[in-house]
Amino acid sequence: MFIQFKMQLFALLDALCLLLKRILFAYKSLEEAESEPKIVPKSVNYHFTRQCNYECGFCFHTAKTSYLLSLEDAKVGLQLLKDAGMEKINFSGGEPFLPKRGAHLGELAKFCKSDLKLESVTIVSNGSLITEKWFRNYGDYVDILAVSCDSFCEETNKAIGRGQGTKNHIEQLKRVRDWCKKYQVLFKINTVVNTYNYEEDMTEQLLELNPIRWKVFQCLLLEGENVGPEALRNAERFYISNELFNEFLERHKSVKCLVPESNEKMQNSYLILDEYMRFLDCTAGSKQPSKSILDVGVSNALLFSGFDEAMFKKRGGIYKWSKEANKLSW
Ligand code: SF4
Repeated sequence: MFIQFKMQLFALLDALCLLLKRILFAYKSLEEAESEPKIVPKSVNYHFTRQCNYECGFCFHTAKTSYLLSLEDAKVGLQLLKDAGMEKINFSGGEPFLPKRGAHLGELAKFCKSDLKLESVTIVSNGSLITEKWFRNYGDYVDILAVSCDSFCEETNKAIGRGQGTKNHIEQLKRVRDWCKKYQVLFKINTVVNTYNYEEDMTEQLLELNPIRWKVFQCLLLEGENVGPEALRNAERFYISNELFNEFLERHKSVKCLVPESNEKMQNSYLILDEYMRFLDCTAGSKQPSKSILDVGVSNALLFSGFDEAMFKKRGGIYKWSKEANKLSW
């Protein structure tokens, strides 16, 4: 009887010890979480659609879903981000001008500028679907419009997949540049350096187009997006070494607005929000989604974003990102 009682007592003590350990562990985790420096999502890239009318061979945000969050839900998420400290939003895709012929994008930009009063609203597009009517309706709500251009040779653009049917990418690029000037939107160009264009000299055209910034990226490989069995693209044939990337930069050093972005700088220094408003963590070389900010809030989702704030600052993530800051003379 006494032995049985002793055994029960020991079992109870064991269980109590375990419970105590668990409480201590939970308390410690909570303390650690609280002591971790809080990430402020100052600048967010919202890829609200994965659909695109182009087929660039190196695309790393491919059409894996056709999901589009309703305007109302997207506005709720944008308000949450603003409350968490967002100052700049960049709308990207896929092709952001594709859903509802640009009206979805226009309404998001309008909401961010007029209602949320964000310092900076920017867009990255392939440029092909932009119209002057869109600028008339929504130009006031945009600070910077970046258009992708990897080559001034149409054949190279076609080989890369930057094109649709008979549309001329370069002529449209020039039209968009002119509309930017007319409607007072800062004009930017993005270029991805890859095996098809690394030998090109784009200096003359860049000096003539005179963008506010020329962002030059090294072709990036991301498992599940543009490399590996799950991917919709295989970008390995587009990939270039650091050495070739640096040669391209060296050839264009006279273009003062050039901002280079190597893979190292690029991979974790962007806060990327996908079409479900989930942060995408690229630290492991693929995109791992957090839960949606609409379900768990911004700070919880940010813990799974893989964001490297130091690298964000190092790559010059904070710059003169509004029209006012650039003191437009036109
Ligand atoms: S334009 Fe952009 S989103 Fe569209 S296929 Fe090319 S890289 Fe991808």
